[in-house]
Amino acid sequence: MRTPVNDYLEEVRETCIAEGDQGAVADYIPELARVDPDRFAVALCTIDGTVYSVGDDEHRFTIQSLSKPFVYALALADRGLDKVLEHVGVEPSGDAFNEISLEDSGRPRNPMINIGAITTHGLAGPEDATPEQSMARIVQGLSGFAGRTLEVDEAVFESERQTADRNMSLAYMARAQGMLEDDPRDAVDGYTRQCSLIVDVRDLAVMAMTLAGGGRNPITDEQVVPPWVCRQVLSVMATCGMYDAAGDWMSSVGIPAKSGVSGGVLGSLPGQIGIGAFSPRLDAFGNSVRAVRACERLSNDMGLHLMQVPEVASHVLYDVVAPDDQGDGTREVKLQGTMHFAAAEVALRELEGVPEDDAPVVLDLSRVSSANRVGRRMLLEGVRRLKLDGHEVRVEDPNTVLDD
Ligand code: GLN
Repeated sequence: MRTPVNDYLEEVRETCIAEGDQGAVADYIPELARVDPDRFAVALCTIDGTVYSVGDDEHRFTIQSLSKPFVYALALADRGLDKVLEHVGVEPSGDAFNEISLEDSGRPRNPMINIGAITTHGLAGPEDATPEQSMARIVQGLSGFAGRTLEVDEAVFESERQTADRNMSLAYMARAQGMLEDDPRDAVDGYTRQCSLIVDVRDLAVMAMTLAGGGRNPITDEQVVPPWVCRQVLSVMATCGMYDAAGDWMSSVGIPAKSGVSGGVLGSLPGQIGIGAFSPRLDAFGNSVRAVRACERLSNDMGLHLMQVPEVASHVLYDVVAPDDQGDGTREVKLQGTMHFAAAEVALRELEGVPEDDAPVVLDLSRVSSANRVGRRMLLEGVRRLKLDGHEVRVEDPNTVLDD
């Protein structure tokens, strides 16, 4: 059988093209203005590392601002949350990506806008890292996310470096506020290099999936950063990743995401999927028009919106059998689905209602497919308390969801 996924992606691509060629290619970096504006590619990476892609999926472009969440991830992993928070905040700025967006304390508002990203750049690598060591750590770390060694596009790097006055002023401002530890010229050089790493949409999808999968690259199996780092990065992407359009994006697409001026967009849906899209024409916020369109379609068609209310908690109780209804005089509570906080709370409420008689209780978990740490602890505590009440309790757990 030929998988319908690629046909579907192709159909999405064609509809997005048919909707017109609005937007304009970024030209403040001269080298970026030379790209073919009609290029368009979309890729998906699943949790088990299967990558689907259509369009110009082999075309490589500079990563630009899509590097920001990954460098933030490395800084968090290398220096810890507290240290990074001393230098850069987590609040949406409501400003354009290249604004001087500082809190009253002088701290850049978040790591997804330039001033925050320039500050974050020097936090990757060990405490006393030289600019070269920070850069080496970033190339190695981003390559880990992509699952292949990434290289710098020297022409784009030089082109942006020669026109980086604005970023230079941001760096001096961050330095003047005591937020930037490095020499501003080194920081901008390094940041510009990080933005000049070359990727294609398939790389973006894998990188996005690695974040969405708790830091493990689904193809190489490398644990690139710890899971807590991904939670932090995805949260900041959800609130700040699409610049001034972040609220609009969150309500219409609902996937933590990041965009960049070369036309890339990546989306990371926790535990599910990584999306990469590329098309150079940008809207007024600096987000790729066609890549945004494609993400909207994917989210709507495949039900990927993070805030889509899952139908789980209300269906947790599969059956409750009273002692009178069966010959052996037991009371059975049968559960189903996935045991997380909300589901386990429904189960505990049922157990709470068990009368203090001497009927044994059977907790039947044969239809429970998995439990997270909290769900497991809650159910085990329910069992413990039933026993304290004097009940004989039998747990049927063929899927061993209560085992650690
Ligand atoms: N290198 C670009 C800059 O600093 C990245 C900006 C972006 O992708 N939005 O201006």
